[in-house]
Amino acid sequence: MIRLQSLLLATFSLLSWSQTPKPAGSATPATVPRLKVMVDPGHGGDDGGARGPKGLKEKTAALEIGKAVAQRLEAAGFEVAFTREDDTFIPLWDRAKAANVQGADLFISLHLNAARAKAARGSEVFFLSLGQGDDDEVVAAENAGAGAAPASPDSMVASILDDLAQQAFLQDSERLAVAIQGQLNRLASIKERGVKQAPFIVLRGAAMPAVLVEVAFISNPKEEAKLKDAAFRAKVADAITLGVRRYFAETNGGVRRRMVGGPG
Ligand SMILES: [Zn+2]
Repeated sequence: MIRLQSLLLATFSLLSWSQTPKPAGSATPATVPRLKVMVDPGHGGDDGGARGPKGLKEKTAALEIGKAVAQRLEAAGFEVAFTREDDTFIPLWDRAKAANVQGADLFISLHLNAARAKAARGSEVFFLSLGQGDDDEVVAAENAGAGAAPASPDSMVASILDDLAQQAFLQDSERLAVAIQGQLNRLASIKERGVKQAPFIVLRGAAMPAVLVEVAFISNPKEEAKLKDAAFRAKVADAITLGVRRYFAETNGGVRRRMVGGPG
């Protein structure tokens, strides 16, 4: 128990440290680090994810969208890192860890939705729920690639710490989800759709605002066809990038990083 408490304490101090401005050091305004976005194309390798009626695999479409999103984010001045850039399987638990190690400011996991109703369409943006979710079916599908659940006491502690990592950023994650959902709704001409909350494993360990975007319904024949079209993927990438820019414009996150290099 003592060990658990000291681990929890260590995590809290790490979290509060991560929220304070990083020291400027010898940096001049010209060398202020750019905001870094971790792009996480879902699935990969043996884990193909969902599959469209014409055979398009979620892992393939997610990677293509990820590359388009990265291109647009870089054009908008962001630094981008990937959890995967090819057809490799990365365990869910390792994806947020990679974002933490790289010091990413945002984590965006990209997926495609699947529903029994062929007409289901459009985008859904999720942030982490620590309890019940809004959509059990989606959660089961996306958490399937996690591998074995942690069993040893050490991994159980690690799992508690993972939850704490994202807990500190839930409000910002919701803001990010709302900003991206708004842009994707415009793209799909959907007015009402709001963000959802669900216990996605991939978001749990992220020590930064983190969302999971179900970009479109791969189960819908029309949307599957669109996903194969680079022009559509570019529009999705534009929408997500605009959402990210809105988020930074509306939250303290951008202010915090702007303070790093001092005035100017
Ligand atoms: Zn998925």
